[in-house]
Amino acid sequence: MKNIFLIKYGEIAIKGKNRYIFENKLISTIRKNLKELGEFKVWKEQGRIIAEPIEDVEDPISVIHKLQRIFGIVGIAHGHKLDEISMDAIYDLSLAHMKEVLGDDSATFKVETRRSDKRFEYDSMEISSMVGGHLLKNMPGQLKVDVHNPEIKVMVELRSSLYVYSKTYPGAGGMPTGTSGKAMLLLSGGIDSPVAGWMIAKRGVELEAVYYESPPYTSERAKQKVIDLASKVGSYCGTIKLHIVNFTDIQMAINEKCPPEQLTIIMRRIMMEIAERLAKPRNCAALITGESIGQVASQTIESLAVTDAATSLPVFRPLIGFDKEEIISISKDIDTYETSILPYEDCCTLFIPKHPQTKPKLEYIQRSERALEDIIEDMIQKSIDEMETIII
Ligand code: ATP
Ligand code: MG
Repeated sequence: MKNIFLIKYGEIAIKGKNRYIFENKLISTIRKNLKELGEFKVWKEQGRIIAEPIEDVEDPISVIHKLQRIFGIVGIAHGHKLDEISMDAIYDLSLAHMKEVLGDDSATFKVETRRSDKRFEYDSMEISSMVGGHLLKNMPGQLKVDVHNPEIKVMVELRSSLYVYSKTYPGAGGMPTGTSGKAMLLLSGGIDSPVAGWMIAKRGVELEAVYYESPPYTSERAKQKVIDLASKVGSYCGTIKLHIVNFTDIQMAINEKCPPEQLTIIMRRIMMEIAERLAKPRNCAALITGESIGQVASQTIESLAVTDAATSLPVFRPLIGFDKEEIISISKDIDTYETSILPYEDCCTLFIPKHPQTKPKLEYIQRSERALEDIIEDMIQKSIDEMETIII
């Protein structure tokens, strides 16, 4: 017998032509992500996707963990497969499967059978009851039948091969990456922006990311931390192009020429502007940030409005109504938290004004920005020309 993984995906929301796009994207992501664990055959069969290792895997749980990170998957059933279909094969496979699932434990169970090959000598009901009897006889003291609320539901499926499975693991949900277009994530080394990127990616959006660094004030370690975060988010949604933009000169110029209480908001507006310039030629139709209302001075409603005015692209802020504790809890779930809390310096904390404005007015901010008028365009262009892009 061989390990087999039956992958269930959300089919309710997808109809018609979109369904094929959805399924094909999902299959290609599964193929790609499983590659590290060996060679797999992945195909679609009767509304599910099946992943079968060419050489049987030793650690099926590692396969399940990989699949649990792929958006678009609702659940993963782990089972076993035999190519022979006969009553003896069904008995053997069910018993071997049950022994592996149960170990030395005991449980209530029931058996359900589906067969697409109607020529088989017994019908579904007969097979279920025969398998149930076989399991009871061969695992005495460990099993008890409960047809209404069993702890283990053993599924026997007769298709082109024979499948037996029981336990279903939850998937990440969402939509397969690449089915909802592309967006540019402003990715810092903090807790919030990786979570924000993950949330939008969950809806099928492919991500690119931009990180503003200010060497020598921000270190190589701080940059590596952002690369690590991008790769953690990327483990859910595939390849991410991370653009690393040098922001030192721009920050120094803002610091020198603009009122101290407006530094942060002006800096954020220039970040938006650069992000938009990177986004448009790369077909990213929106920007994503990790902001939430009231978290800091630059995230009041008034500040967010002034930040928004710096770009014509929609800005997605999926964390807008979340408390910090809620964001932390997701970041722990998606495994970005430990990296995010590493204590490396961030360019935003470089020149923190003592009394940042919490209710900036666009026209006053624009007036202050005029001090940068003669130099900013060249500085932005230089940063973009010299930026480094890493494919993660
Ligand atoms: P985070 O935890 O994501 O860093 P934060 O609570 O520290 O967020 P800010 O520092 O005000 O908040 O940043 C708000 C948002 O602006 C971030 O969520 C991120 O999207 C973007 N951002 C901030 N700093 C940078 C940076 N150096 N490079 C790229 N994007 C940034
Ligand atoms: Mg930050």
